Amino acid sequence: MYDIAIIGSGPAGLSAAVYAKRAELDTVIIEKEYMGTGQIAESSRVDNYLGLYGESGFDLGEKFRSHAKNVGAEFNEAEIVKIIPLKENFLLKTADGQEITARTIIYAAGTTHRKLGIKGESEFLSKGISFCAVCDGAFYAGKSVAVIGGGDTALSDALYLSEMAERVYLMHRRESFRAAAALQKAVKDTANIECILNAVPIEFIGEKKLQAVKYLRNGEEKLLPVDGVFIAVGNIPNSGLLKGIADMDENGYIIADENGITSAEGIFAAGDVRTKTLRQVVTAVADGANCAESARRYLSQKRS
Ligand code: NAP
Repeated sequence: MYDIAIIGSGPAGLSAAVYAKRAELDTVIIEKEYMGTGQIAESSRVDNYLGLYGESGFDLGEKFRSHAKNVGAEFNEAEIVKIIPLKENFLLKTADGQEITARTIIYAAGTTHRKLGIKGESEFLSKGISFCAVCDGAFYAGKSVAVIGGGDTALSDALYLSEMAERVYLMHRRESFRAAAALQKAVKDTANIECILNAVPIEFIGEKKLQAVKYLRNGEEKLLPVDGVFIAVGNIPNSGLLKGIADMDENGYIIADENGITSAEGIFAAGDVRTKTLRQVVTAVADGANCAESARRYLSQKRS
């Protein structure tokens, strides 16, 4: 039986593993994706992680992963499908039939891209529609693309794509962006990015491949011909496994303070999946450390 089962291998999970291993706790990281490092791998450039200015998200994730590996973290590539709280510990069932037992859980399962839920979205997925600019941007060299959204991800994606695409349309449903001021300034200063504001996408149109986005602006239907669309309209917490086990807020984020303590004894929540104001790599990494320490204290109280 493990002392800690960490679910998720993004920055929060990997950081938790480093702290747990240094506390000499028997720890496993269970990850759904082969060699995964979470959504950070999709960031073209991270300029706000202290000490590593300008690093690509992929490289940063790799550094985090190899750090966890170097301190001896054990990885298990499997998808957890059920968490069963037992009297003194937890039973985790995986999709491939494993049964893992652990005294505590650090839940760091992150979030999933939110979809728009409009006509054509599923039909043209990977046929012109993408949720990852870093993964698919290169396909649009010299072409025109639209990015949908007004947060940090949308503006970062637009800037990244502006370096390869001929034209980038940044389509946002409101007049103002919620992204960081520095990103807004950079977008404004980039000649081949055009903002289309107060624009609500209503349909993706094409034949076999995406050809245009239909949107509503000031009550009028308009058509924007593009070769590709990148959807960046936020995220949904991957908290389903804790339904009925730990309390969540109205949006499905697991309610936990900065120590990661949840309403479920022995379960600690770290990273983007927990309630917090600032979802960033730096706060995810801090959460991981705090959760490992909370789990350590919890285990030592149990043992005494
Ligand atoms: P976000 O901050 O939740 O922004 C989502 C954007 O999508 C908002 O502008 C929202 O519009 C729009 N939107 C939501 N639903 C929509 C719909 N149905 N139709 C059209 N537009 C819709 O998400 P995010 O940009 O992915 O960022 C997530 C978190 O990661 C944030 O905490 C962010 O700070 C962080 N992040 C940080 C960095 C960085 O620092 N480098 C990079 C990426 C992400 P409204 O504004 O009208 O609500």
